[in-house]
Amino acid sequence: MQNPILLSLAAACLAAASADAAGLKLNLRRQVETAPGSGQYETVEKAAEWDPRKTAIIICDMWNQHWCQGASARVAEMAPTMNQVLLAARRQGILIIHAPSDTLKFYEGWPQVSRVLNAPRIAPPSASNWQSLNLAKEGPLPIDDSDGGCDCEPHCPQGGPWRSQIATLEIAAEDAISDSGAAIYNLLQQRGIENLIIMGVHTNMCVLGRSFAIRQMVQWGKKVALMRDLTDTMYNSRKKPWVSHFRGTDLVVGHIEKYWCPTLTSTALTGQPPFRFQADRRPKVVFLSVETEYQSKTTLAAFARNDLAFHYGWNCTFLQSDRADDLPGLEALKEADLAVFFMRRTTLPPAQLKLIRAYLEAGKPVVALRTSSHAFQNWLAFDGEVLGGHYAGHFNNRDPKTRVWVMPEAQGHPILKGLSPEPFLVSSWLYKTRPLGAQAVPLMLGRVDNQTATEPVAWVNQHQGARVFYTSLGHPDDFAMPEFRRLLRNGIFWALSLEIPANAVTF
Ligand SMILES: [Zn+2]
Repeated sequence: MQNPILLSLAAACLAAASADAAGLKLNLRRQVETAPGSGQYETVEKAAEWDPRKTAIIICDMWNQHWCQGASARVAEMAPTMNQVLLAARRQGILIIHAPSDTLKFYEGWPQVSRVLNAPRIAPPSASNWQSLNLAKEGPLPIDDSDGGCDCEPHCPQGGPWRSQIATLEIAAEDAISDSGAAIYNLLQQRGIENLIIMGVHTNMCVLGRSFAIRQMVQWGKKVALMRDLTDTMYNSRKKPWVSHFRGTDLVVGHIEKYWCPTLTSTALTGQPPFRFQADRRPKVVFLSVETEYQSKTTLAAFARNDLAFHYGWNCTFLQSDRADDLPGLEALKEADLAVFFMRRTTLPPAQLKLIRAYLEAGKPVVALRTSSHAFQNWLAFDGEVLGGHYAGHFNNRDPKTRVWVMPEAQGHPILKGLSPEPFLVSSWLYKTRPLGAQAVPLMLGRVDNQTATEPVAWVNQHQGARVFYTSLGHPDDFAMPEFRRLLRNGIFWALSLEIPANAVTF
């Protein structure tokens, strides 16, 4: 029996927590099939608000030691951030459940263990010690982990050296400890907890399979979300699909978002940018798509997803708005290595514009397309100051088309690598962009096909010492052309000072 005084104290604490903590605001991300059975998915992020008193965090297998040294090092690297998340969660009244499997002997006699064992027994609908891949509900895992997933050289010998949870994660008096799904279920039912945030390791194994983890809790009807930046995967990048370790984690996270539950980042609790492993050096690119004339929310988004995110495993954030006066999510620029603009005549509120200006003033690179020369009605000088352009309207040449070509004197510039020296026709009607700024270097020219006047259609510039690439092309038809996709990708790689890939853009 529970002590009634303790219970009423707990109730008082919960009441206090609810007084200062409003709902827990989350952005939940899923992969949603565009049409049933199509096999095509799109990323959908939805705001949600959870009652902290009906929410628990379950920490999966954040052991003191793993048989794989690489896995142990990554657990140690993310543990301090995870501990910050736990501190913030406790302040909001969220229950913390530590679940370091197979190490309960270490915690023998701890009140946090008894708290779980003493919860009134309620038989869950069905329980098993391990929930395997369930092909009735999910596709095969997107990575081959048949070798155990050690990414080290030489491979680590497998074993079970774990003895406790990693000490970096503090265990508070009000927390709970258990590695049994059925026992944790009792505690959740006793507390009326419906929502679970799962974090820890490893997405392709325990985070899905344990008796207290995603597959089981979803089947028991809990609302589950995975904290996708505080997790890891047992994946060896020498195995299928031969992507980087971190890309492997992204793929499993995508699998979970498709078939099991949404994900969120630690930002929801810490207010800080999401956690990122030191060794994860993939560029972070933020796309700003605010225009309704050129379908950049489709064309540029497909380019970002299929070429940069899928093929190269880059970390792409696509910010999109159909409204010229609002673009949420610009905080992502604080961590970005590159911003790609496809914007038209926006009047973003000062707080949003400030985030864009701060990015540019920090001397970070820019790629800008088409209407971005007139991106801001409340910052008209952006074109001249940042892009080095001088937009002054356009020719009305839908037919004939615009003929564009590489300037002979620009031959050899990395951005032009792989482009045909032959002129080609594009659907973007010609922009009037002369005269360019003093530092701008034109790379390609264009003219209306039956006229003689030429205008620069692609150039590079500098802003605060950072690389800037602009092209006035970007019509939806252009995105279907290998030459244009090549130019855009080259410009992005060049802006990041990366070697330009030899292969064509294929998607
Ligand atoms: Zn290893």
